Amino acid sequence: MIIKPRIRGFLCTTAHPAGCAQDVANQINHAESEGIRSDGPKRVLIIGASGGYGLASRISTAFGFGSSTVGVFFERPASGNRTASPGWYKTAAFTEKAKAKGLYTANINGDAFSQGIKDATCDLIEKDLGQIDLVVYSLAAPARQLPDGSVVRSTLKPIGEPFEGSTIDLNTRELKSLSLEPANEEEVSDTIRVMGGEDWELWIQALLARGLLAAGCITTNYTYLGSEVTWPIYHHGTIGKAKEDLDRAQAALVEPMESVNGKAHVVVMKGLVTQAASAIPGMSIYLSLLFRAMKKAGTHEGCIEQTTRFFNTQLFGSGEHRTDEGGRIRMDELELRDDIQQFVADNWSLVSAETLDDMTDFDGYKQAYLEMHGFEVAGMDYEAEVDPEIPIELQVGEA
Ligand code: NAD
Repeated sequence: MIIKPRIRGFLCTTAHPAGCAQDVANQINHAESEGIRSDGPKRVLIIGASGGYGLASRISTAFGFGSSTVGVFFERPASGNRTASPGWYKTAAFTEKAKAKGLYTANINGDAFSQGIKDATCDLIEKDLGQIDLVVYSLAAPARQLPDGSVVRSTLKPIGEPFEGSTIDLNTRELKSLSLEPANEEEVSDTIRVMGGEDWELWIQALLARGLLAAGCITTNYTYLGSEVTWPIYHHGTIGKAKEDLDRAQAALVEPMESVNGKAHVVVMKGLVTQAASAIPGMSIYLSLLFRAMKKAGTHEGCIEQTTRFFNTQLFGSGEHRTDEGGRIRMDELELRDDIQQFVADNWSLVSAETLDDMTDFDGYKQAYLEMHGFEVAGMDYEAEVDPEIPIELQVGEA
């Protein structure tokens, strides 16, 4: 089968297995280029391990520290003439490379919110690894099924006032205006239940109850604050409320983690093109401006650069933690530099279809978006036939 990108709105419905594998290989090269270190975690659990920051965390720890990794994710294999999801192909590629290095790698495909997946993960850890030294919670989900079977959904809406903005059509490069009514109370609380800290706490409680967190264990959860221009839809919107709830959950986890002499951290990462980020209204304009400014300044980073720098210089490095007044570790210091944000603010209201190329790095944004699905990865032959059916060795869950 010859696989091409098929884009609808902000969604790409196809993925390229060989391109995804190459993307993983490139990320591994970056993690290895920093050298293998012995001061990191030996056994890592990543919840949300197949895309964006979670996959990069898995690669940084496995190939930077030689860690054994257990990855939990929700991905779709290929079926009929439908390709698998990008995270499926990337997990397949990661597993192959990690096993070739002799690294323990276990994959759990299923709903991380469910008690069943939590129990199965605990059983596997108990059987294979005994305990865990680092738990990275990196889930980004549109919905969560609650124990009573009901489903709550997260929404990306402003709070209090309507949002007027624009977004760039990936196909036509047209700017489309966007108006969103403010969220009601139920939408706010549902978004907090999906993207807030409750499920992180449930995972840690489940692991602690089974004695599966090693002495000195660390757990992290990624958050985003971003630029003031995005605050009406992000920081001050429904997703911002959910992110605020991570700070509550972190405070609530301090005591339970102390029982194993461990710690819980919320970590502020930079804005990047991932599956989750591409769904945020108006983010394409912000990221296109940001990429332009950061590439010019020589400070641009992707997921793997962020996570590798985070583990090597903050979580396991000997240097001081770069924390803010809320105790969060900051990895967004280059994004928020005055000169970068000044460029974004100066050009924010000037972006149009005519100025897109001169003013922004929309091409870089689009390239990152396509690369995320395994397309436009350097060195690939996209006219070659590929088999979309790539198996993954799953310890839990179905293929
Ligand atoms: P992503 O969409 O790339 O990855 C999400 C992961 O969650 C995938 O592995 C997916 O399989 C998994 N997942 C989703 N629903 C699941 C479920 N029900 N059960 C099991 N696994 C499930 O997302 P991302 O952008 O890497 O986001 C990860 C975290 O990083 C989020 O908390 C996000 O807010 C945060 N963050 C993202 C950015 C950004 O710009 N992308 C910036 C700062 C912080």
